[in-house]
Amino acid sequence: MDLGPSAVHPPSPHLTLEPQSKAGNPDAGVVAWRPKLPPPAYGWFTGRTGGVSGAAWCSLNLAYHVQDAPEAVRLNRARVQAALSLPVVPWITAEQVHGPRVALIRQAPVRTVTGEYAVVRGVDGLITTLADQPLALFFADCVPLFFAARGVVGVAHAGWRGTWQGIARQMIQLLTEGLGIPVEDLWVALGPAIGPCCYTVDGALWNAFRRRFGRVATPRPTVLDLRAANRELCLEMGVPPAQIEVCPDCTACQAERYFSHRREGYPTGRMAALVMQSSEGRQGSPLGLPNPPQG
Ligand SMILES: [Zn+2]
Repeated sequence: MDLGPSAVHPPSPHLTLEPQSKAGNPDAGVVAWRPKLPPPAYGWFTGRTGGVSGAAWCSLNLAYHVQDAPEAVRLNRARVQAALSLPVVPWITAEQVHGPRVALIRQAPVRTVTGEYAVVRGVDGLITTLADQPLALFFADCVPLFFAARGVVGVAHAGWRGTWQGIARQMIQLLTEGLGIPVEDLWVALGPAIGPCCYTVDGALWNAFRRRFGRVATPRPTVLDLRAANRELCLEMGVPPAQIEVCPDCTACQAERYFSHRREGYPTGRMAALVMQSSEGRQGSPLGLPNPPQG
């Protein structure tokens, strides 16, 4: 499939819903999907187009750990920062070790040498009470989980290991028991990820998920639905079903829109799940609430 720089992609249905700001649709071209979170919380999931990387990372690879040229990644992150009108502060990111540990960020990171990003070691989930502080995790098939409630946002990375070890539960526990947020006030969104159409696993793993989650997450032999499993974990913790959004997009099916580790192998690029609470009004509130006055 030709995914070169000249490839023309059809407009995404997700990219035309928002009212145009004076500068045009601000995140068109880099955002593939937006979770519905209550303002002032905002989330974004980037696609694979709109960047400068070549070859296997074509073109909006946002991760440094997949052997892409660091300068290309730096330029791609700057593009996303500009397209989303994010504050010019380092993104807080995580090491992403496929584990269940999560971190609460209460202080802005010390500016790094590049001024660009800060990494929290040993965790796959980030929560912050800070405003105007983007959190970012990176994906190519695993499930991105977005969390929001009044005064707090979070993001988590759940492949089968993180799902199995209950990172969704860890996030919700930190939000509720740690920060005192009533579980009925939580909003969760599960973003683009490999779907049950494509995610085949070995029989032992499938059986384990079948025993734990039943047919919901194992709709037919040897395929897993990781988003359904994570949704079940959120429901078990008491998040209201109407406040759990599940994106239907399969990253392995939609080759022109998303990177996929399962489809493309190593190396390939990574999309970013970004979340932030904003201290000022932003265009296009995802829940359809009126936009705050500008200026
Ligand atoms: Zn698929």
